[in-house]
Amino acid sequence: MPRPLCATIHLDSMQHNLARARACAPDAKVWAVVKANAYGHGLERGMRGFAAADGLALIELENAVRLRQLGWTKPILLLEGFFDATDIALLAEHDINSAVHSIEQIKMLEYTQLYRPIDVHLKMNTGMNRLGFTPADYPAAYARLRAIPGIRNITLMTHFANADELEHPRLTIIEQVRRFREGADGLPGQRSLSNSGGVLHQAELSRELHNDWIRPGIMLYGGSPGGKSAEDIGLLPTMTLTSEVIGIQHLVPGDTVGYGSRFVAEVPMTVGVVACGYADGYPRHAPHGTPIVVDGVRTRLIGRVSMDMMTVDLTGVPNARVGSKVTLWGDGLPIDEVAASAGTIGYELMCALAQRVRVNEGRLGTHG
Ligand SMILES: *Cc1c(COP(=O)(O)O)cnc(C)c1O
Repeated sequence: MPRPLCATIHLDSMQHNLARARACAPDAKVWAVVKANAYGHGLERGMRGFAAADGLALIELENAVRLRQLGWTKPILLLEGFFDATDIALLAEHDINSAVHSIEQIKMLEYTQLYRPIDVHLKMNTGMNRLGFTPADYPAAYARLRAIPGIRNITLMTHFANADELEHPRLTIIEQVRRFREGADGLPGQRSLSNSGGVLHQAELSRELHNDWIRPGIMLYGGSPGGKSAEDIGLLPTMTLTSEVIGIQHLVPGDTVGYGSRFVAEVPMTVGVVACGYADGYPRHAPHGTPIVVDGVRTRLIGRVSMDMMTVDLTGVPNARVGSKVTLWGDGLPIDEVAASAGTIGYELMCALAQRVRVNEGRLGTHG
């Protein structure tokens, strides 16, 4: 029998969340972002869950090629672009769109004989200060790219630093849109600005923010980009991580639990040992009190998370026994809550799901 730890992927929730993203920006086409192994859900499952998307966007060229081999015929976009001139032939061969964010990439394109045209997304740095040309340098970069014979469509692209918050004190979406418009003024091409946060604010920003293509990631996986909870935004969880209680210990006051003996029982209590640890992707730094569901009852993590196991407080879960079902996150326990308790974000938990965790597929409510 396999270890009881299992991640159940809800393809129906992925479809639901994609429809939710579309409804936020009904005039835009959707790049479903499937980087990082579809945020830990599996690239091929991402392709199936988001079959209705207009395109798939990711970071890894080898996975872009794999999507073609798996039969994806709609557009594919490399969000970080290519890294070497030898990558360009693969872009042409497999008809993969690429972001272009640096003068070095433009030079590589100028020196490469493209035997088939490619589409590119010219990235503007509107304040994130990660990738892209400044608004001042953007028109010249555009002109240089336009002059390359093998370049077909040029989409104008930028990325928001604070899309989860409309009124960020340092840099607002509106300010980034203003800079984008300034740099892109008069340039032809479709526009692509919004990640999940931007998509979720599309209604409020409909006067300022125009997207021909949106690029939602986390919202498609039922995670909130920040601000409101996923449930309040109408998103459904797409990954439920479940396991079982594999051991029970009865503590008397003064007993301690786990490595470092960090948890000390003050009263007699029962502790459940759950088959899931940091080698499975559960964050080691999750503190006492991190929520966890045992037998349908919400309780708390206690003691230090170890490599393969963790310990939970079974006070208040009187029927718990070896074999009781445990939910680490997902259906019935929002991943964002677990992440917040561990000082991180749902993105990181999903992406960190370890290779050794068994994965299956099932509808919400049928996991485990
Ligand atoms: C990852 C990524 C996205 C998706 O971001 P979410 O916050 O997950 O919606 C969009 N655009 C680019 C360029 C990205 O790298």
